[in-house]
Amino acid sequence: MGRRQRTSAIVVGAGMAGLLAARVLSDHVDQVRILERDRLPGDAVPRGSVPQGRHAHVLLVAGQRLLDGWFPDLADELVAAGAVPLDADEPVRHRGRGHRIPSDPGFPALSMSRPLLEGTIRGRLLRQRPNVSVADGTPVDSLVLEGGRVVGVQVDGVRHRADLVVACTGRHTRFLDQLAGLGFPAPQVSAIRIDVACGTCVVPRRPDDLGGAPAVVVNDLPGDHRMGVMVPVEGDRWMITLGSFHGEAPPIEPAGYEEFARRLPAPVIADVLARSRVRTPVLTHRMPASQRRHVEWLDRTPPGFLVLGDAVCSLNPVHAQGMSSAALQARALGRAVARHGPTSPRLPRAFYRRAARVVDVPWRLAARAGGPGVVNRYLDMVFRAGRTSVPVARQALRVRNLLARPETLMTPAMVLRVLRAARRSPDDSEGAAR
Ligand SMILES: Cc1cc2nc3c(=O)[nH]c(=O)nc-3n(C[C@H](O)[C@H](O)[C@H](O)COP(=O)(O)OP(=O)(O)OC[C@H]3O[C@@H](n4cnc5c(N)ncnc54)[C@H](O)[C@@H]3O)c2cc1C
Repeated sequence: MGRRQRTSAIVVGAGMAGLLAARVLSDHVDQVRILERDRLPGDAVPRGSVPQGRHAHVLLVAGQRLLDGWFPDLADELVAAGAVPLDADEPVRHRGRGHRIPSDPGFPALSMSRPLLEGTIRGRLLRQRPNVSVADGTPVDSLVLEGGRVVGVQVDGVRHRADLVVACTGRHTRFLDQLAGLGFPAPQVSAIRIDVACGTCVVPRRPDDLGGAPAVVVNDLPGDHRMGVMVPVEGDRWMITLGSFHGEAPPIEPAGYEEFARRLPAPVIADVLARSRVRTPVLTHRMPASQRRHVEWLDRTPPGFLVLGDAVCSLNPVHAQGMSSAALQARALGRAVARHGPTSPRLPRAFYRRAARVVDVPWRLAARAGGPGVVNRYLDMVFRAGRTSVPVARQALRVRNLLARPETLMTPAMVLRVLRAARRSPDDSEGAAR
């Protein structure tokens, strides 16, 4: 019997998707190299090519569970680095128009800045998987093809060969354009206009802020035009992100920013801002649309190449699903590679089919927000019913956390529960915010 050929993979991009794709590939491929264009910082500080890393990032339970499986005891390491455990018994406060929204997911969670999460995962990946390496300061210019197959990438005129190239380059990706230029079909793109504008600042955290609650989400649901979140991050700080949809952006000068927070349906964030003499400058981010590249519909795609993460689907940040969606796609990649092998010409389509099932859920949830139709009216009713029915609130939360498919909200027993509870629930126009 001949010796097995050694296999290698290149992952382009060391963001959340790239790190997790490398983690799953390291189980199936002999050598995994991550090529990242940024210089990677030693400390938990934001970096240039991931501008969203300056804003509040919440990891949903689906993503957290996958991370726990791939990186045992990661949570302990994060806490040692300053991440804040959110006590499951003292749930995150959700404040809406006059309602305290039940939000008892029953799952312990951690809160930290995105750079701390990403940097800790990167460190763990490199320590735990000796067959994975990262080259930073290495911008990939193009794919290298031979005989219709991707066989590597080109960086500054130098070719790097690999059996599999996985592009985790974030929302913008040039490689699909390159392939289209070479005669491969380009994926259809769907977009949902969201016009999100957000502004973030960081302030010192005091234990008695929020009456001891671990974090707060204030929004104007349903309608969703403005919102604010305040989450604890390392260094005894709050990270405050205020946002608007299809509306006026949060101002960057301090007084205007605080005034924006005060006009939210509950003044809790404004109160913390008012007493915080030290504040970082407000940093802003805009996102015109959620965007999905339908790679699963491609009838021809070159062997040896895949895209994953925001490059496939970048979602409305308000639902906090992007990193968990990347983790679920990485799990799909692991399963597809386990079945077909890293060099199989069948791998891209098999992976894209699995990944589409994963991406479908957050995409459909995002697409429905505020839209017309019977299903949307029903989902609004689910939201209302969740204020008085714990089973409905729990199941809706499982769906929002990507732990259950939306169909589970449509079973006859659940529909009955929703209808009964929605009738008991207060109307949106009632009540003043507290
Ligand atoms: C304001 C905002 C708030 C958000 N909040 C949340 C949240 O609360 N929870 C959540 O789960 N998600 C959130 N998201 C979404 C989340 O940030 C993304 O889903 C996630 O970062 C996607 O990871 P990625 O690895 O696909 O892309 P990115 O994190 O963007 O990483 C892409 C990487 O590829 C590198 N790269 C690109 N091109 C090249 C190249 N040619 N050569 C080498 N390297 C390259 C870049 O430098 C970068 O490091 C938020 C997004 C925004 C905009």
